[in-house]
Amino acid sequence: MLMFSNTHILVPEFELITPHTIEEAAGLAGELPSTALMAGGTDLLVQMKMEQRTPSRVIHLGRIPGLDRVTDAACLDLGATASIRTVGSTPGIVARYTALAEACQAFSTVQITVMGTIGGNVCNASPAADTAPALLVLDAVARVVSTSRSRDVPINEFFVAPGRTVLEAGEILESIRVPRITGTYGSTFFKMSRVTADISKVSVAVSLVRDGDSVEQCRIALGAVAATPLRATGAEATLTGAVLTESVIEEAAGVARGEITPISDVRSTATYRRQVAGVLVGDAIRSAWARSGGGVIR
Ligand SMILES: Cc1cc2nc3c(=O)[nH]c(=O)nc-3n(C[C@H](O)[C@H](O)[C@H](O)COP(=O)(O)OP(=O)(O)OC[C@H]3O[C@@H](n4cnc5c(N)ncnc54)[C@H](O)[C@@H]3O)c2cc1C
Repeated sequence: MLMFSNTHILVPEFELITPHTIEEAAGLAGELPSTALMAGGTDLLVQMKMEQRTPSRVIHLGRIPGLDRVTDAACLDLGATASIRTVGSTPGIVARYTALAEACQAFSTVQITVMGTIGGNVCNASPAADTAPALLVLDAVARVVSTSRSRDVPINEFFVAPGRTVLEAGEILESIRVPRITGTYGSTFFKMSRVTADISKVSVAVSLVRDGDSVEQCRIALGAVAATPLRATGAEATLTGAVLTESVIEEAAGVARGEITPISDVRSTATYRRQVAGVLVGDAIRSAWARSGGGVIR
C-alpha cells in the first residue's frame, strides 16, 4: 500500500511569488485556478508534501507590510498573517480576549506558533482549528478582499465544511476584527488532546457577561465535534438571563452535548467526544464566570 506522510519531500514543481501589497496578492490569486495562498505554510506545505494539493503557483503573503498587525483601539484588529505566537502573548489580548489568547497558547509547539498565523488557522477550516471556537464566542468578523470588492463576514458564517470556507476564488482574508469588550465579562478556552503536541479531540470556548448573580449574555462554541466549529446556541439560551447555579450549568452542558455531531476517528471516539464536550462546557462556564468576577456557584 502506498503511504503518504508528513516526512515526504515536496515533489511537484511550483512557482513561488511574494507580493508586497494585498492588491497585488489579490490580483495574482484571481489569475489561475491552480493557485494556493500561503501564510506560514504549516498546513499548506504538509498538504503539498502529501500531494493532497498540487498548486502550480504559491502566493506567499508573509512579506506584505502591515498584514501581521495586532492593534487594539476601537476594536481588536488582527491582520491575517499575525502569528499565533504574537496573538497568544499580546498582554491586551491575554487580559481582555482571554479565550483567544488561551486558544493560541494551546497550540502544539513553539515552531508552529511562530510560523502559523491566525488567518491560516481559520482559512484552513479544520473542524479542530483552535482559534475558531474562541473567535466564535468573541463575535469576530472576517474582512475579505479581492480585486473587485471588500466584504465583512461574521465568523459564524465563515466555515462551510471541513476544509471549506465562504472564500471565493480570488478572495483573500485581510483581517479579523473582534468588537471591544466592556463590563463584567469573562472568557475561557479549554482543549482536550491526546498529547500536548497534537490537535484537539474536543475544544470549547465560553464568553459571558455577568449581571450580579445572573448571566446577561453568553456564547458557547465547540471545535472538533462537528463538520465545522459551531456555536451551541441552545446551551447559550439555557444560561441567558438565568441565575447561575450548578443545576443550570449541568442543564446547559447536557443541551450542548445534544447540539454536536462528533465522529470517531484516529484521535477519539464519538462517544468520548460527546461526553468530554459536556464536561468541558461546564468547566469553561465556571471559569468564565469566575473571570467575570462572579461569586460562588451553588
Ligand atoms: C505539527 C503541527 C502541529 C499543529 N498544531 C496545531 C494546533 O495545536 N492547533 C491548531 O489549531 N492547528 C495546529 N496545526 C495546524 C496549523 O499549524 C494551523 O492551522 C496554522 O494556524 C495555519 O497557519 P499558516 O499560516 O501556517 O497557514 P498556511 O498553511 O499558510 O495556510 C493554510 C490554508 O489557509 C489558506 N490561507 C492562508 N492565509 C490566507 C489568507 N490570508 N486568505 C485566504 N486564504 C489563506 C491557505 O491557502 C491554506 O489553504 C498544526 C500543524 C502542524 C504541522
